[in-house]
Amino acid sequence: MLRLSLTARCNLACPYCLPDGVEPPGLLSLGQRVRVVEAAVALGAGRLRLTGGEPLLASGLEELIRAVSPSRSPAVAPSGGHGSGEGGAGLREISLTSNGALLTAERARALRASGLNRLTLSLDGATGEAVATMAGLPGGGAAGEALLAKVLAAIAHARAAGFDPARGELKLNAVIQRGRNDDQLLPLAALARERGVELRLIEFMDVGNRNGWRPEAVLSAAEMVERLGARWPLEPLGRDPHATASRWLYRDGGGLVAVVASVSAPFCGDCDRLRVTADGIAFTCLFATPASGLDLRPWLQPGVPPEELRDALAGLWRARADRWSEERQAPRDPGAPPGPAHAEMAYLGG
Ligand code: SAM
Repeated sequence: MLRLSLTARCNLACPYCLPDGVEPPGLLSLGQRVRVVEAAVALGAGRLRLTGGEPLLASGLEELIRAVSPSRSPAVAPSGGHGSGEGGAGLREISLTSNGALLTAERARALRASGLNRLTLSLDGATGEAVATMAGLPGGGAAGEALLAKVLAAIAHARAAGFDPARGELKLNAVIQRGRNDDQLLPLAALARERGVELRLIEFMDVGNRNGWRPEAVLSAAEMVERLGARWPLEPLGRDPHATASRWLYRDGGGLVAVVASVSAPFCGDCDRLRVTADGIAFTCLFATPASGLDLRPWLQPGVPPEELRDALAGLWRARADRWSEERQAPRDPGAPPGPAHAEMAYLGG
C-alpha cells in the first residue's frame, strides 16, 4: 500500500499529533505525485491512501485521483471487501483519511465522482468537551460542539455521495488516550453503531517527538475490546493480512468495530506500507527517523526515465528493516541514551 501525504498542514491541532502548520519546502507537483503513484503501482501496490496533514486542505486532490485512473486495475472489484487488496494487478482502491471538518456535501460528491473508493473520517469524542480537548481547540466545549456537528454532517454527506458504510467505504477513526478520552469509548461506539459505520479505535502511538507519549497513556486494544464487549457482546473476526485493524462483530447485529493495536500487539512483520511525504521523501515506517527517508525528487525531474524511480523505490523496499513497534517492547537499559528522534506524524502522513 502507498500512503501519499498531500500536505503537512492541518486545520486542527490535536495534541497527540501536533502538526507543524506549515508545509515543508519543495512540495511535489501534481505530475510528480502521479509518477510516484505509477511507480508504486508498477512495483505491486494495489491500494493508495491519500492523507496528510489534512488532505482536504491540499489543492488538486480530485485532479490527482482522476490523474491516476490510468493506473487502475482493469477489473476493479467492487470496493466492499475489507481485505488488503494488493496483488500487482493495478490500482484497485483509492482511499482518503480526513478529519471531515471541511467535507461539505459538494466536496463529498466531487470526491466520489473523481473515483475515490473509501473515506475514513476521524472523530475522537462524542461530546463537545471531549472533541475540543482531543482536537486542541482553543474555544472549549462550544468549539468542540461545532466541530462535532461538522463531522456528523460529513458522515451524512459522504453517505449521500455514495460512500456506503455497509460496503466498508465509510469508516470512523478514533484515537483513545487513557485518562483523556477513554470515557468516550462507549459513546463513540454508540454513535458509530447508530450510523451503521465501522469504528476503528486506535491505540495512542508514540509517533513524532512532541505528543508527550507515555506508556501509561495507552489504553490497550485488549482493554478497549473488554470494555466494548461488556456493553455489547463481540465476536472476533481477526486481522486481515497486512491490515492494521483487528475486527469484531457486534453479536446483536450492530455491525462491526475494529481496534488498531500498534503499540500493544505490533504487526511490523506483515506491514506493507510505503509512505511518501508531501515533499517527496519515502519512508518505510510510521516511526521512522527523518534521516532514514529517501528523497525521491532527483528521480522526479523532467527527462528521468520512470524505471529509475522504480529502481530507487525497489531498492528502498528491499533494504527495509524497520520494526520500531516491536523494538519498543524490548527491555531497555534506563541509563541508555534516547534513540534517534522520529519524524512527525503529520509530516509522514498518518
Ligand atoms: N487529518 C487527517 C485525519 O485527521 O484523519 C489525516 C491525517 S491524521 C495524521 C491520520 C490519523 O492518524 C487520524 O485518524 C489520527 O487520529 C491518527 N493519529 C494521529 N496521531 C496519532 C497518535 N499519536 N496515535 C494514534 N493515532 C494517531
